[in-house]
Amino acid sequence: MKTRSVKIGSIIIGGGAPVAVQSMCNTKTKDVKATIEQIKRLTDLGCEIIRCGVPDMESALALDKIKSKIKIPLVADIHYDYKLAIASFKSGADKIRINPGNIGSQEKVKAIIDAAKEHKAAIRIGVNAGSLKTNATYHMTVSSGIEKVDKMVSSLMEHVEFFEKNDFKNIVVSLKAHDVPETLAAYRLFNKLRDYPLHIGITEAGTSLSGTIKSSVGLGILLNEGLGDTMRVSLTADPEEEIYAAYKILSTLGLRRVGVELISCPTCARTEINVIKLAKEVEKMTKNIKKPLKIAVMGCSVNGPGEAKEADLGVSGGRGIGLIFKGGEIIKRVPKKNLLKEFEKELKKLIKPKK
Ligand code: SF4
Repeated sequence: MKTRSVKIGSIIIGGGAPVAVQSMCNTKTKDVKATIEQIKRLTDLGCEIIRCGVPDMESALALDKIKSKIKIPLVADIHYDYKLAIASFKSGADKIRINPGNIGSQEKVKAIIDAAKEHKAAIRIGVNAGSLKTNATYHMTVSSGIEKVDKMVSSLMEHVEFFEKNDFKNIVVSLKAHDVPETLAAYRLFNKLRDYPLHIGITEAGTSLSGTIKSSVGLGILLNEGLGDTMRVSLTADPEEEIYAAYKILSTLGLRRVGVELISCPTCARTEINVIKLAKEVEKMTKNIKKPLKIAVMGCSVNGPGEAKEADLGVSGGRGIGLIFKGGEIIKRVPKKNLLKEFEKELKKLIKPKK
């Protein structure tokens, strides 16, 4: 079902708004300077919501200073201690992420709900497959057919009902597992029951390459089914990689076109240039461009410019020379050693703001 919209600081998620890209700082939150610097770098790359871990009161209090220096909504990640949640709201957190199951008594969860109401903030209820403890008492009328998934969704529904009973609907939910089919089943099932916005992610997905593949498969399927209002690609890597990966997933599905889509050939016996090296250099050169562009790097003139017709700009090998082309038409023939430099000149013309 279509999700309702929930306001997180200056951003709306759900209700058909573009899928918001988020990440999480890996700095110590109490190291205010390092955290602000990291958030600013991530914001420049397109991060739209940032989460910081709040393991202690010093970190909760630090959110105040962090919040005053950043431009994107701030989310506090809380475990166990409800006082940290309340302090985070006081420090200006736009949303907190909790698993109410590890907060303790209902009175403590209620105190968090009251604080969220007072500060007009949102709460993400995050249930992870790995931290399921109790047998939920919520009885579902629908089933995923997977016992673990039904337990995850029942556990989430129990929390959701408690929040609803306390007249709080500024809710976002997540149901993360590191198993992709379980994650898919959990989100699909929950979305049949309630319309709260979905924060999607594959938890503990892995390192840069394997984690990106796993997340791309899992999140790609969900997004393609219209499920997912905000996303995080969790990687054991620099959070900057999470932002690149998220936008690549969204652009691949045509959901958000941001940045450069690189079209490069796999190389073959016809290759007239070192395509692997050139493609890496072009990728590095174009990594931080926000304008949606298709850039091609092809190995030969036989198929290169033709196969990459839809590219806004491309380079390819040729007989003894390098070629630069636009929309499939060759615009320059240059010595191979100058190819990258000439490409850069054309690229600058393409991204120059129009007067
Ligand atoms: Fe081979 Fe040329 Fe196609 Fe690249 S563009 S795969 S070099 S035929």
